[in-house]
Amino acid sequence: MELIYEKSVKGRRGVRLPKADVPRAAALPENLQRREAAGLPEVSELDVVRHFTNLSRRNFSVDTNFYPLGSCTMKYNAKVLENAANLFGQYHPMTALLPGGETSCQGSLAMLHELGELLAEITGMDEVTTQPLAGAHGEMTGIMLIAAYHRAKGNRKKYVVVPDSSHGTNPASAAMVGYEIITIPTAPYGDMDLDAFKTAMNGEVAAVMMTCPNTLGLFNPHIKEICDIAHEHDALMYYDGANLNAILGKVRPGDVGFDVIHVNLHKTFGTPHGGGGPGSGPVGVKKALIPFLPMPRIIKAADGGIALETDNPRSIGRTATFYGNFGVMVRAYAYMIMLGKEGLIEVSEQAVLNANYIMSRLKSHYDLPFEQTCMHECVFSASRQLKHGVHAIDIAKYLIDRGYHPPTVYFPLIVKEAIMIEPTETESKQTMDAFIAVMKEAAEMAEKDPEALLRAPVTMPVTRLDETKAAREQNVCHAGW
Ligand SMILES: *Cc1c(COP(=O)(O)O)cnc(C)c1O
Repeated sequence: MELIYEKSVKGRRGVRLPKADVPRAAALPENLQRREAAGLPEVSELDVVRHFTNLSRRNFSVDTNFYPLGSCTMKYNAKVLENAANLFGQYHPMTALLPGGETSCQGSLAMLHELGELLAEITGMDEVTTQPLAGAHGEMTGIMLIAAYHRAKGNRKKYVVVPDSSHGTNPASAAMVGYEIITIPTAPYGDMDLDAFKTAMNGEVAAVMMTCPNTLGLFNPHIKEICDIAHEHDALMYYDGANLNAILGKVRPGDVGFDVIHVNLHKTFGTPHGGGGPGSGPVGVKKALIPFLPMPRIIKAADGGIALETDNPRSIGRTATFYGNFGVMVRAYAYMIMLGKEGLIEVSEQAVLNANYIMSRLKSHYDLPFEQTCMHECVFSASRQLKHGVHAIDIAKYLIDRGYHPPTVYFPLIVKEAIMIEPTETESKQTMDAFIAVMKEAAEMAEKDPEALLRAPVTMPVTRLDETKAAREQNVCHAGW
């Protein structure tokens, strides 16, 4: 398909503006003026519509097909949430910061404040900042808050502890804030080895980062004891909330002993994601960390209105422009209001039921390295198929031919040939049954005709790529499409 720049014809326009009938504003200072045109494509409105409509038809999305991408929680995003985001007037983000500006956007600020309160209620935390723009950004914000807390107490801390099943962003975030990483292996029961953890703990540990249920979809039976041990060493507990979809209304991380949490609104709270954004990773904290929260902090004023706190010297400062990804937060807020408390509990119950259904129906055909009741996702291994020369990636590519987005593969890293399936609560039994049938078909093909799997996908505009070359020598313009 041609790039839109290749469709450009000199002088072609989509819109022609009428002659200005207002006085010309003063010219920008010389040094800020463009020396040459911006180099935009010169195309008609029809060119633009066709270009992007055709591009979108090559897109794979939850709106078109089943998308069981483990850990990413690709649930259906109800269209009414889009309506809510479109209806909600968006003020210029500077509005609230202008003198007296807070009074003119009380509705927006109240929505952000109430969203924070709802998230605090769901997670068992005392206050939430909505600033971080994604889960990983929330992790870094959370670890910065923990570092500020230890600094204020005069604690000398050097390490952050993570299990070896953790998402790569956990150790990366901690390292970016300047900590060294201690990695704890996974025990045969499928979670952080408790004895190894006890041995590794020492007074220089700043925080322990846990995902619970973890990336194997298993809930740690020792989680409360782990929190207690960490606290004995004056280390704080960080909860990676990417898997919150498994425990809504069932367990509140704050009640178990966690001190800081990030929530991926774009995973759990029904807002679209993929293709790199937009995301939103609000961070919740216990009381002791509130003084360090990012500014501007959205607070309840004495007169009952909502105000911005902008002058707290202990704050870690600003972690994003303004208040975070506002549109994503409107959708998440509408999602919570739409479902209510009972609805959110049902989300988790159905998500867990669906994952266990898929796990029990596929374990005849795929190895299950940690066989026990799972939470919202299950992790298989293609080790049985490997005996026939078929890898997890080949099964993933075959699923593309059959109209399914592949599950997450090769993650978590501790499972050889991992296939991580997360159906979410929004899928029907009929959809899951059809997917299960294709997964079984792939397992049977691995035995009878492995070559066919190695060739997949055969129905796509782009077939099997040399993945190293695709990353290193990117060429997004494919003449044959
Ligand atoms: C998705 C995910 C993250 C990172 O979140 P982003 O919003 O993608 O930055 C962290 N941990 C786990 C377990 C995840 O699944």
